[in-house]
Amino acid sequence: MDTVSLSGKELAAALNADSKERAAALTERGAAPRLALVVANDDPASAWYVNSLRKAAERLGIACERIDLGADASADRIRAELTERSADPAFDAIMLQTPLPAGVALDDVSGAIAADKDVDGVSPLSLGLLASGLPGFVPATSEAVVELLKHHDIPLTGRHVAVVGRSNVVGKPLAQLLLAENATVTVCHSRTADLAAVTTTADVVVAAAGRAGLITGKHIREGAVVIDVGTNESPDGGIVGDVDADSVAGKAEGLSPVPGGVGPVTTALLMRHVVDAAQRHRG
Ligand code: NAD
Repeated sequence: MDTVSLSGKELAAALNADSKERAAALTERGAAPRLALVVANDDPASAWYVNSLRKAAERLGIACERIDLGADASADRIRAELTERSADPAFDAIMLQTPLPAGVALDDVSGAIAADKDVDGVSPLSLGLLASGLPGFVPATSEAVVELLKHHDIPLTGRHVAVVGRSNVVGKPLAQLLLAENATVTVCHSRTADLAAVTTTADVVVAAAGRAGLITGKHIREGAVVIDVGTNESPDGGIVGDVDADSVAGKAEGLSPVPGGVGPVTTALLMRHVVDAAQRHRG
């Protein structure tokens, strides 16, 4: 079987074209969308990601301000900044970068982001709205997985999806979104006794564990669709996913590439959320 590459580039381009047009219309009315990127680390991978978000925002006509709190910021300091930006009408959207300083958990501080500015859906309120099936911002990476599957016409209703990873950032919100699409969902994690025994029963396997090469040909059944969310640093300085693409090739019906799969769609959806927030605030 030929394994189709489930690229995210075309979908990301379409989403970005729409966001750009809507951002321009807002700017024309003197209401340019404005994103605050709050950073409290000196991590090079995070700096690279923040820079790529700033460039993506600039390309779409979204104003983006990096707010640096330093790698030793306390939870109180981070909460105070998020509370202040949440009340500040100059900003439509807030993203808090990870990693956070040692000893500060995302859950300790994310509740200070107002739900109407929480464009990556990280706060307990946003996650609760999602779990209840109520409107709110959804974590962009999880949404990107579902949108990528839909874009490539992969049906979800009644199908068994195995999600590998149970973080609040990707695995758990993705499980909620897949349930809303009427899939039957199994969530696997580091304590799952026999990963392959579960994933080989799935029509779709989503790898979101952050372990390079975790998912191999033996983890999937013939004809399954595999979505690779993982972004792991490779020895040569590039990024690789969680899926061993060589061993899955020829067995999977489709596989999303890394880079070029979930990543560009995630960024495009984040930017769309910023424009959505601006439209609601200023529209
Ligand atoms: P995390 O470390 O918070 O969670 C990893 C999850 O994987 C945990 O729930 C853990 O139980 C599970 N896991 C770990 N080892 C496992 C194993 N051997 N078998 C089964 N399950 C295992 O990570 P995260 O923040 O959820 O991110 C997951 C991956 O997705 C990372 O590689 C991250 O870089 C990537 N990511 C990509 C995007 C994107 O836009 N493409 C966005 C966010 C995260």
